[in-house]
Amino acid sequence: MTTQPFANTSPYALLTFQQAWEQIEQRLDALPPQYVPLEGAGGLVLAASVVASSAVPPFAASTMDGYAVIANDPAVDTARGRRLTGEEAAGAPSRIPIGPGECRRIMTGAPLPPGADAVIAVEDTREAKGYMIATLEVAHGANVRPVGSDVALGAVVLTEGTLLGPAEIGLLAMLGQARVQVHPRPRVVVLATGDELAQPDQQLVPGQIYDSNSYALAEAVRTIGCQVERSHHAADEPEAVEQALREAVSRADLVITTGGVSMGTRDLLKPTLERLGTVHFGRVATKPGKPLTYATIAGVPVLALPGNPVSTLVGFEMYVRPALRLLGGKRPLWRPSVKARLLHPIKRDRERLDWQRAHVLELDGQWQARTTGAQASSRLLSMVGANGLLCVAPGEGQIATGECVDCILLERVESAEVPW
Ligand code: AMP
Ligand code: MG
Repeated sequence: MTTQPFANTSPYALLTFQQAWEQIEQRLDALPPQYVPLEGAGGLVLAASVVASSAVPPFAASTMDGYAVIANDPAVDTARGRRLTGEEAAGAPSRIPIGPGECRRIMTGAPLPPGADAVIAVEDTREAKGYMIATLEVAHGANVRPVGSDVALGAVVLTEGTLLGPAEIGLLAMLGQARVQVHPRPRVVVLATGDELAQPDQQLVPGQIYDSNSYALAEAVRTIGCQVERSHHAADEPEAVEQALREAVSRADLVITTGGVSMGTRDLLKPTLERLGTVHFGRVATKPGKPLTYATIAGVPVLALPGNPVSTLVGFEMYVRPALRLLGGKRPLWRPSVKARLLHPIKRDRERLDWQRAHVLELDGQWQARTTGAQASSRLLSMVGANGLLCVAPGEGQIATGECVDCILLERVESAEVPW
């Protein structure tokens, strides 16, 4: 391939992270609503409020195993008690009315037979010779769930924007809704680019390295509940990159690429994205992630991450995850941030916001942080086991031991075994 000489200066403005994120957010809407089966809808967001189409319970039901009765029934035989007229099981109502002086065995969840208005718990009774004697009388309505007492017919039970978890899914099932209108799971295509990439099951030839980014990214996408497809990596040839991008945008709601976004003569992502769509930014004052690029092709967002493995995963955390949340109808939240006290000094970057990987631990209400060692953006080990991302503002010199810095708590924090 014949290449152009190096370009020494980038034509792209250097944005702050905040400015870059605004460019992304402006162009992302929640995916159009779809009906999906209830099973598997967990983690998705409701696209419309849910009105109860039936009452719960749909019939007056016993809350106890006991006897269905007429409360304060004047016709009860004072010596023998109430006359037993059979049994009501859950799911199998007899529909035979209860008359004065009568009772019927009833199980929890069974419909109250016509005429009965209360249930006496079995613990408060004695049964003999076809009669039941109550040791405790009950009032009208005792131990009965009236129709609609849990959910009233027509009530708004879930509002648009609600995240579906086990309770919400259960409630929809309780109302007999087999499908639910949600913002669907975003479909993501991960495209690794680079002539040097081999797959982990291949033999390396000189100059090659294994493609780790597409595996790391696919896993990251999967863990936040999106659908992911790892595309075959594209060579650093204009046609290959163009073809791979065209295919990716045709079947994705968001495309992530890695590699090929910086100043090398074989860095083809930016020019190809310019040709196929619109590049909204191409440089951000962060470390790692300076050449990170955002484009849209026919409305499909493309986040082109730099190839270094740490840049890729930090890029996922700071850009891709909140972007996928937006597509899924959620707020673009980052993980929670705390102030963490440094256990050793940290050198600032003069111009860029530095996202340093750290082990953090809360001791007596105070977060403490130690970085994960050398912070080169190629050193994926700096990310392995990290449970914090320090946000070190640009400036001169060092931040001293004991000073506090903002720290994003990565998901692993709950299970972290911090190796101090
Ligand atoms: P680039 O962004 O293409 O300039 O790549 C920056 C560095 O990341 C280079 O050392 C690449 O070899 C490396 N790299 C690029 N893509 C991958 C990948 N998929 N997996 C692991 N390393 C990569
Ligand atoms: Mg490259």
